[in-house]
Amino acid sequence: MDTTNPQTMPQATLLLPRIAYDALRAHAEEAYPDECCGVLLGHAVPGGWRVNEAVRAANERTDTPSNRYSIAPAELVMIVIAARRRGLQIAGFYHSHPDQPAHWSRTDLEEAHWIGCSYVITEVAQGRAAATCAFLLEGTTEEDKQFTPQVIHLQDDSGPYAPGKASR
Ligand SMILES: [Zn+2]
Repeated sequence: MDTTNPQTMPQATLLLPRIAYDALRAHAEEAYPDECCGVLLGHAVPGGWRVNEAVRAANERTDTPSNRYSIAPAELVMIVIAARRRGLQIAGFYHSHPDQPAHWSRTDLEEAHWIGCSYVITEVAQGRAAATCAFLLEGTTEEDKQFTPQVIHLQDDSGPYAPGKASR
């Protein structure tokens, strides 16, 4: 399969530059034992997103930052404005799961409102980034929204990234 031409990509695909992948995983390790969070900027491609960069955001949850994340609305607005100026869209969001699997939680689904966007989750095991997985928020309303696993394709010459496998 050609992993560089969006026209041939399967549904629910996330094209992620390795530099952005490394950056969000580094952020996850730095924030440990709390959750980190950030925004993915890029462009829509058939069946998914092509990410240009990962932008860090502060986790404003101070009550339970080890198992919840929240980006302050004011910070998100600034990120959206800066992105639009550069012709980029909000492709998705990322956060980490300290000592929990890289799979969405019930709370993650409840608090996810950007239908059509990707949600990337990194497991941090004992302070080290482990699996990184992506989920596409599909549906049309708050009632029928659901997460669908997305295949992450790292954009370098190492080929497709297998979800669930740590790269180091
Ligand atoms: Zn989560």
